Amino acid sequence: MKVNLNITPLEQWLPNLNGPLVIAGPCSAETEEQVLTAARGLAEIKQVKLFRSGIWKPRTRPNSFEGIGEEGLLWLKKVKEETGLLTTTEVANAAHVELCLKHGVDVLWIGARTTVNPFSVQEIADVLKGVDIPVFIKNPLNPDLQLWVGALERLNQAGITKIGAIHRGFSTFKKTKYRNAPNWNLAIELKRLIPELPMICDPSHISGNRDLIFSVSQKALDLEMNGLIIESHPDPDKAWSDAAQQVTPKRLKNILSRLVVRHEKSDSPEMETVLAKLRGKIDGLDNELLEILSSRMKIVQQIGEYKKDNQVTILQINRWDQIVNNRVAIGSKYSLREDFIRDIFDAIHTASIKEQTRIMNESVSETQS
Ligand code: PEP
Ligand code: MN
Repeated sequence: MKVNLNITPLEQWLPNLNGPLVIAGPCSAETEEQVLTAARGLAEIKQVKLFRSGIWKPRTRPNSFEGIGEEGLLWLKKVKEETGLLTTTEVANAAHVELCLKHGVDVLWIGARTTVNPFSVQEIADVLKGVDIPVFIKNPLNPDLQLWVGALERLNQAGITKIGAIHRGFSTFKKTKYRNAPNWNLAIELKRLIPELPMICDPSHISGNRDLIFSVSQKALDLEMNGLIIESHPDPDKAWSDAAQQVTPKRLKNILSRLVVRHEKSDSPEMETVLAKLRGKIDGLDNELLEILSSRMKIVQQIGEYKKDNQVTILQINRWDQIVNNRVAIGSKYSLREDFIRDIFDAIHTASIKEQTRIMNESVSETQS
């Protein structure tokens, strides 16, 4: 997949940025007092540069709080006048964008439930033609990188160059400790495809639970994300939406103070030498791994031929169960995690089945011709 975007670097849209960009504020704007109290607390935290608050809330079920609407935009204006914090909110259609522009919202974001719908994204892109405003695009609810890229392209084609991505995790059927599975590999893949794209993480929506926010934030920074968007409410347990995942400004200050911002490179030549040596060892071991995998695949091919000659099915579940259980047991003796071993052998098994299927099909086409 080739992706060419014209992106203005984050430092040019937020010139006072020194360190990761931190956006904070309540999930939803509820009352003027709640918004201003949150903003006053957050303005005391030096890392916080932007104030977030949902004005229109996409709710899964009807009859829950669906956002305060236009009135809340007046409160955001007050936040900016009183604290100097820039403001940002979620837009899901052209009318939302027009109201935000009318009331001077500084930055927009497109939510996960909107990124999944190219009609809505295009509608937003169309109304933003000729407007110079930064827009962040959250990942779609489902783990589909193309949809995320497509939304970024639509906005960029409308002339929005101050564009960034927000990684907020993905819905899954399987229950995990997270509200939304992080699938870090997808965020990393987006960064690989578009290295100049600013990407920030939303640990609040990934976690769904305030106790996980620190660890998810640290992981995001360690993966070189450019910032964090964290929900913060003056009285989180009484929040009208997403109560379990919000933190007070005081707790946010503590979380931010404990985060370690590591850099891709160190200035110390000694450290670079040590790293280069260790990386050399890794390169050597990876070569050996690949040689072993290639030898293994050759044997798989022999087995494939043999099964074909003897009319035996490719997949033999019992044998595979034995292999996985045995490899997990051996792995644990080497202190290798069970999920790691399972993932590796799943990948090896899938590749073996593909190779044997290719061999079987070869025989079919040969007999047909
Ligand atoms: C939000 O940021 O409050 C929100 C609704 O997020 P998401 O689109 O990630 O669910
Ligand atoms: Mn929320």
